[in-house]
Amino acid sequence: MTTQRSQLFDTLKSEKFDLLVIGGGITGAGIALDAASRGMKTALIEKNDFASGTSSKSTKLIHGGLRYLKQFEVGLVREVGKERAIVHRLAPHLVKAEKMLLPIYKNGTYGMLGTSVGLWVYDKLAGVTGEDSRRMLSREKTLAEEPLLKTPDLLGGGLYAEYRTDDARLTLSVIKAAISYHAVCLNYLKCLSFEYRNGKISSANCRNEITGENLSVTADFIVSAAGPWVDEIRKADHSLEGKHLFLSKGSHIVVARERLPLKHSVYFDLPDGRMMFGIPRHRTTYLGTTDTPFDGDTDHVFADAADVDYLLAGTNNMFPGVNLNRQDVESTWAGLRPLIHEEGKSAGEMSRKDEIFESESGLISIAGGKLTGYRKMAERIVDLVSERSVKLGGRDFGKCRTDEIPLSGDSLRNAKEVAVFQKEIQSKVREMNLPAHYPAYLVETYGEPARQIIRKAFAYELPAEQAILRAELSYCFAREMVLFPDDFLERRTGRLYFDIGSIDRHLDFILLEFRNYFNWSTEKLSAEKQRMETLLQNVRNF
Ligand code: FAD
Repeated sequence: MTTQRSQLFDTLKSEKFDLLVIGGGITGAGIALDAASRGMKTALIEKNDFASGTSSKSTKLIHGGLRYLKQFEVGLVREVGKERAIVHRLAPHLVKAEKMLLPIYKNGTYGMLGTSVGLWVYDKLAGVTGEDSRRMLSREKTLAEEPLLKTPDLLGGGLYAEYRTDDARLTLSVIKAAISYHAVCLNYLKCLSFEYRNGKISSANCRNEITGENLSVTADFIVSAAGPWVDEIRKADHSLEGKHLFLSKGSHIVVARERLPLKHSVYFDLPDGRMMFGIPRHRTTYLGTTDTPFDGDTDHVFADAADVDYLLAGTNNMFPGVNLNRQDVESTWAGLRPLIHEEGKSAGEMSRKDEIFESESGLISIAGGKLTGYRKMAERIVDLVSERSVKLGGRDFGKCRTDEIPLSGDSLRNAKEVAVFQKEIQSKVREMNLPAHYPAYLVETYGEPARQIIRKAFAYELPAEQAILRAELSYCFAREMVLFPDDFLERRTGRLYFDIGSIDRHLDFILLEFRNYFNWSTEKLSAEKQRMETLLQNVRNF
């Protein structure tokens, strides 16, 4: 990946694009890959870091959304259900099959028969067959699968197939794939306003958020995939009318695995009738989510004490033996669902379907939807752009082919190959004396480049954790457009959430690596240290 920002800026300034995408979350990334792989000359701009919006704050499941079936959103469940297997095939190191346990209680959300039928339909819609098909479990078998569950009124359970991912890394993998098809993708470049020719949108006025320089990007078509900021962009286009966004905040908490040693991911009832997930991940278990209306600052969204207490109470209610408290919470995150407002419905009742808006000026906006459905959302948008292009006498860009573009490079082609590779990494990690979660962490985070990262780490004469950090940083500086410590610690590696202790132990070391690479002044170093310390406080001092 070329990371020569100045070269990329020159290209953006001097060339005209077929398509400009605003927003580097999963939706924008998916559109950029789809468009570039069909031969569109494509640019993507992101005002912050890639995936810094909702796409690093989800529950990190590639799932069909069982609860949408209850709301009779059959089309949505069918589409995203089928997408799970495709995204798993495209990125087997990053999208891992994960059995989900749904315990069933007397007077709970789902009864035994309803769950059996519901999960059967869920599997059918998604085309799940064979060993992966849902299994209904007796009370005893449910407790054998998950001994920490509360026992009174437990009737049994359903065990069904889902997938777990790292949303920010998935987004970045899609961006990297788009770049391999010559899309020009830049982070820290904000769209401020638009220019028009004959009443039609023709370019975006942007600001380089690092240098303050302004520039204009010209394109035949402009698509806004700005997630929770979609209405802001529509406002800049003077086209915010009719349907609008409704933002709902969802928070998660992270505890050490030994404090809640779940054997499975569990989808369980809350006392207020909602449901939440408990998901084991490497050295932690994470729990979420809340669903509350949000009208605060969209650029600063964190879990608060009420969110944390709600999630702790729900967890303790279902797993009464563990008695989690605030001190157990190592980290948190919160994100905004950009839902399409529906009069008279609560946040939980509003549809998760995506919607496309076209303004008179030609600005195309897309909002709503799921991480899981990003490929199909992208296909709809790029089909639309291609159709508009033909209407205007331009090129037909053909059909979507992103279901054949691997996101793992060519080397790790399926879950079996990933497992063999993880064994290889495991033996190296053992030699280095790194903590036990590192093989899974390195393989799921980087895929095949984990090999070169380990090899580099071996060559450094440093304590093991610092050696691996230096090797990771070296890879991320060169290949992943990392500019700030939080790009690396939050979105490239997830350490902020799942291994926050490693930041506490090595923050000064990491900051010095940044200083050496970017030639930071002492003032810049201390400003970045302050910024990281504030972020650390925000995720754990609720
Ligand atoms: P975003 O990721 O928010 O991306 C929009 C981007 O646009 C941002 O990065 C922003 O910085 C950028 N931007 C904004 N304004 C500008 C501008 N002026 N110039 C340039 N760039 C700009 N889905 C699932 O499939 N599975 C799940 O488990 C799941 N769990 C969820 C849990 C929660 C709590 C939430 C909130 C959502 C969850 N979702 C899940 C939904 C999923 O996360 C979202 O649908 C998806 O991430 C939205 O991606 P996006 O690209 O549309 O928006």
